[in-house]
Amino acid sequence: MDTNSPLVILGGGPAGSAAAITARLAGRPVELIERAKFPRHKVCGEFLSPEVRPLLEQFGVSFPEAAQIRRVALHLRRAEKRFSLPEPALGISRYTMDCRLLLRAEAMGARVVASSENTPDIVATGRRAAQAKGTRLFGFKAHFAGPANDAVELYFFGGGYVGVNPVEGGFTNVCGLLPESVLAPLGFEVDVALAGFEPLRERLRPMARQFDWLNVGPLVFGPQQGVANGRRAGDALQFVDPFTGSGMLAAIETGVLAAGASNADYLRQVQRILSKPYYMASIMRSALSSSWVETLLPLVPGELLYYVTRPKKIR
Ligand SMILES: Cc1cc2nc3c(=O)[nH]c(=O)nc-3n(C[C@H](O)[C@H](O)[C@H](O)COP(=O)(O)OP(=O)(O)OC[C@H]3O[C@@H](n4cnc5c(N)ncnc54)[C@H](O)[C@@H]3O)c2cc1C
Repeated sequence: MDTNSPLVILGGGPAGSAAAITARLAGRPVELIERAKFPRHKVCGEFLSPEVRPLLEQFGVSFPEAAQIRRVALHLRRAEKRFSLPEPALGISRYTMDCRLLLRAEAMGARVVASSENTPDIVATGRRAAQAKGTRLFGFKAHFAGPANDAVELYFFGGGYVGVNPVEGGFTNVCGLLPESVLAPLGFEVDVALAGFEPLRERLRPMARQFDWLNVGPLVFGPQQGVANGRRAGDALQFVDPFTGSGMLAAIETGVLAAGASNADYLRQVQRILSKPYYMASIMRSALSSSWVETLLPLVPGELLYYVTRPKKIR
């Protein structure tokens, strides 16, 4: 790899910015192409997995304003599960996080541009959407004011889920995904869909939505475009089911790896850190739509459910 030529990165989300910062730490020139104007809101649960801390330290980035998320509460129709996280996760909005990472890359010398003729070495453009009509899943998010706590609460219903967790400023992120078959008959009115699941309706009763629902979709999980065409990082490589709360961690880890490795090494390293947790996430997603999960859930240690969906730490 010629380390004097600029590393061209397409996309300045968590994966692209992590790649840019890593390359700059190694002294390599970087061109980072990001078409959106930051800061901007983005549909995301904004649960930043705690294993990301050493990488943020390495980047020289911190989020002191982030909410500390210490507990998990899973709500199904007839079962509940509560457990503590091994270490606190961060509740931080994408409005704050993505902008701070991009600015850090820029402050370290990355040239940030809105477009470029250069061919990217790293593609970090996020998820691609394509799915048959009728089976499609759509994501949504808003921030709410009202009673906040230190838990990530996941409500599974209607073939999808809704997550509720604190973010900075005392606000609460409400974000989820539901199938078109649930949303379409309700005219895609998210408030009406959420009110249909009683535990969630009660949780949101004292809360006030702070802006219109942001929508995204259709969502497709799994490998996005294969990994053969060079170094795709983050969601452009593989999109994990968001209920795991590990997408941003995986994006940052693959961004770091993409900036440092040759193509062959990169694929091997990615395989090592992501294949098992992504496989476990797909099994858990299938299990969630089966009837026996309500009986089984109370028997499985919560910490195990969390642990098996974490990307491995990068060396
Ligand atoms: C409903 C939902 C809830 C989620 N909740 C969580 C959660 O709680 N915790 C978690 O860890 N993960 C969560 N995720 C996953 C998380 O959002 C992603 O894993 C993460 O955003 C991936 O980062 P990325 O950098 O790969 O892509 P992105 O964040 O999508 O960034 C891609 C960037 O590339 C830019 N771009 C795209 N195309 C171009 C182009 N042609 N030229 C220039 N720029 C371009 C875009 O503007 C964007 O800024 C959730 C996802 C969804 C859909």
